[in-house]
Amino acid sequence: MNYFKHLFGPVPSRRMGLSLGISPIPEGYCNYSCIYCQLGRTDHMTNTRQSFFEVSDIINEFKQWLRLKKEVDVITIVGEGEPTLYKNLGQLLIELKKLTNIPIAVITNGALLSEKEVRDDLKYADIVLPSFDATNDEDFIKINRSYGKMDFSKVFEGLKQFSKEFKGQLWIEIMLVKGYNDSEEKLIALKDLLDQVEYDRIFINTPVRPPAESYAHEPSDETIEMATGILGGVAINHLISNGFSSDITDDYEAIVSIIKRHPMNQFEIKSFLEIRLCENINEIFNRLSQDEKIEVVEYKGYKTYRG
Ligand code: SF4
Repeated sequence: MNYFKHLFGPVPSRRMGLSLGISPIPEGYCNYSCIYCQLGRTDHMTNTRQSFFEVSDIINEFKQWLRLKKEVDVITIVGEGEPTLYKNLGQLLIELKKLTNIPIAVITNGALLSEKEVRDDLKYADIVLPSFDATNDEDFIKINRSYGKMDFSKVFEGLKQFSKEFKGQLWIEIMLVKGYNDSEEKLIALKDLLDQVEYDRIFINTPVRPPAESYAHEPSDETIEMATGILGGVAINHLISNGFSSDITDDYEAIVSIIKRHPMNQFEIKSFLEIRLCENINEIFNRLSQDEKIEVVEYKGYKTYRG
C-alpha cells in the first residue's frame, strides 16, 4: 500500500481545480477555533510556530508522488489546522519549487501575517488565500475565537502589509455566518476594510460542511447574493464536489486519509468509490460508521464524515 503521511488527495478545490494537499502540521493545531471550522473544535490551541516535521520527510514524500506522474492543477499547503504555524514553511516552499512548476497555494487564517518571518516565508508561494471574516474585535472573538489575546487590528494590519509586499496572487476568503457577519452594515464595513488591501480575488464561502458549532448557520441565498454585490466577490457555496482521488490503493484507507484533512459527505464518498470501481460500497460505509476515529455528522439532511 502506498501511504503518505503529509500528502493527501488530490481533492477538488472549488477555487483552484484539482489540488494535491500537503499538510505540514499535526492534526488540530491552530491559533483559532472558528465556530464554522469543518474540522471541529481546535484540539491544540497554540500561537507558537514549531518545526513539527522535517522538511526532508515531506519533500521525500513529494518526490515519491512525482514519480506517480499524476496531474493536478495546484499544490495546496493546507493543514489539519493552521499551516503558518509550521516554522519551516519558507524552506518547504523553496524545496517544493525546485521540484515542480505546478503552482503552490497556501491556505491560511492570516492570523500571523503581522509577523515578518511569516510574511517572508509566504513570499515563495504562488497563491496565498487568507481568510478574513470580522471587522472588529468583538466579532473576531465571536467568530474566530483566537488564541489568547490576539488583537483584530494587528491581524488586519498584517494582511494589509502582506498585500503590499506579496508578488503572487492574493485571494481573500470570507466565511459568512448567519447573524454574525452577514448584515448589510457588516458587509459594508468589511468592504471598507478590504478596500485598503491589495488583493486579486475575493471568495465568499458559507458553512456548507458541518461546522464546529451547530449554531454556525449558512446565510440565505438572498444574503449571499447581497454579499457578492457589496464585496464584488464570487460565491463558492456549491454542495457537492466531484474529483476526489487518492494514490492509496486500499479504498477504506484512501477515504480515511482524505477525511482527516477534508471532510466528505456521503455523496462524495459514494462517487469516489464508484469511480474506483469499488464493489463493497455498503461495507465501507458500515466500517466508517463503526470506526471510533471517525465522526459522522448529520447536517442539512445528509451525512458528512470527518476524521
Ligand atoms: S477554520 Fe481554519 S483557522 Fe479556523 S479553526 Fe479551523 S483550521 Fe483553524
